[in-house]
Amino acid sequence: MAKIIDGKKISQEIKDELKVKVAELNSKGVEVSLAVILVGNDPASTVYVGNKKKACEYIGVKSLSYELPETTTEAELLELIDKLNKDASVNGILVQLPLPKSIDEDKVIQAIAPEKDVDGFHPVSVGSLLIGQKGFLPCTPAGIIQLLKRSDIDINGKECVVIGRSNIVGKPMAVLLLRENGTVTICHSRTQDLKSVCKRADILVVAIGKPKFIDASYVKEGATVIDVGIHRNADNKLCGDVDYESVEPIAGAITPVPGGVGPMTIAMLMNNCVNSVL
Ligand code: NAP
Repeated sequence: MAKIIDGKKISQEIKDELKVKVAELNSKGVEVSLAVILVGNDPASTVYVGNKKKACEYIGVKSLSYELPETTTEAELLELIDKLNKDASVNGILVQLPLPKSIDEDKVIQAIAPEKDVDGFHPVSVGSLLIGQKGFLPCTPAGIIQLLKRSDIDINGKECVVIGRSNIVGKPMAVLLLRENGTVTICHSRTQDLKSVCKRADILVVAIGKPKFIDASYVKEGATVIDVGIHRNADNKLCGDVDYESVEPIAGAITPVPGGVGPMTIAMLMNNCVNSVL
């Protein structure tokens, strides 16, 4: 039976630690504020933005909400970002992705001042991560490192396999595991014999975007399995990229979906917001 890595509990611990830090800052007259920009009314994005605002409220971060219509032009969005970049009372800027097709996401990400880039997607943040300099870390991979550390799972010298090479999960995940002295392999859709590569892993991070793709035949006995995927199955229930029922009996530790990686992403966003004033 695997140890269940409880992301809900660990994310709550982090949020409570941050709440104390924000109260200390407030007592010195320092406020933390996050500008959240949502363009259009995609239902999933609306839920994510609502959860981010709730987390801000809990921790004591002031959230400034910009809910723009679907018809917003790229120029209008860039103008708002420019205004927020120049506003000293705004510490972090978050633009909820995806954006409507008419807007160039890369251009928008690059328009955010790196010192306010709390999502950690700006090329300056990505470069700092790669060369080990101070900067904002992308929230989902940073949350996974916290899950491992706070569950006493050693990364140092361990075989770490990451499935997926997206800019927001797979690539930064691999760099963060390397930073923790893991021996890291990145797999993607062209990887040959995925199963035998995965079977080497002491720590297997799955960000493949395919429901229940990884079953026990991909997992070494006793391995730690981190499931980044989020999907809704036919019964409208949440599931991950890992077939939990199949993998849990042989894994050493595993994250459930929901209640694993998901809650950590918002906790680490809040961590970045607080760090933006430190
Ligand atoms: P993505 O951009 O779709 O990337 C998927 C990656 O998986 C790609 O690198 C792709 O390879 C690789 N892949 C696809 N099929 C494969 C196969 N058969 N064998 C090996 N590799 C394969 O997805 P993402 O944005 O990284 O997200 C991954 C999952 O995590 C999604 O379910 C997403 O919803 C979820 N997610 C969750 C959170 C959270 O907070 N919990 C945050 C972000 C994402 P190629 O590069 O070769 O195409």
